[in-house]
Amino acid sequence: MEADDPRGLGTTGALTTAAGSAVSTEPTEAPLPRSVRRGPRITLTCECGETTYVSYGDRWTCPKCGRSWNTRQIPMEQYAALRQTQLKYRRMPVAMSLIALITIVVFIIAGQAFGGLVLVAFCATAYSMFVRPLYKKRYRRALADLPSWEIKPE
Ligand SMILES: [Zn+2]
Repeated sequence: MEADDPRGLGTTGALTTAAGSAVSTEPTEAPLPRSVRRGPRITLTCECGETTYVSYGDRWTCPKCGRSWNTRQIPMEQYAALRQTQLKYRRMPVAMSLIALITIVVFIIAGQAFGGLVLVAFCATAYSMFVRPLYKKRYRRALADLPSWEIKPE
């Protein structure tokens, strides 16, 4: 194996399309950071009782009473904190599969592919039986502690 060659990692050219884009009169409509846009869904309950699930930054008009809601009224820092919680709990399963993969590769290199598979299968079983249920419980509790916001119809 060779060391990584950094030459492949060129920066992509600028893709800005500044052509005639008008300056937005509404500063709240600025593009959202990607991390915020991909955050957990927000449960939006209208004053009339209608409920929907929206992403942060979405507008929603209630089909029943016609009130218009803008989730950008939620402070972005508070929502970003929520996203952090979600990411924190998503990282662990990813780390686990990575460790399993590395273990198998190490065993294959060592000429013990079968032993590696047995070990990983054993660990995966133990993980899903004992660790995961606990972990899910903690995740659910962390999400249950999340704040709720009062926003006003527009
Ligand atoms: Zn409504």
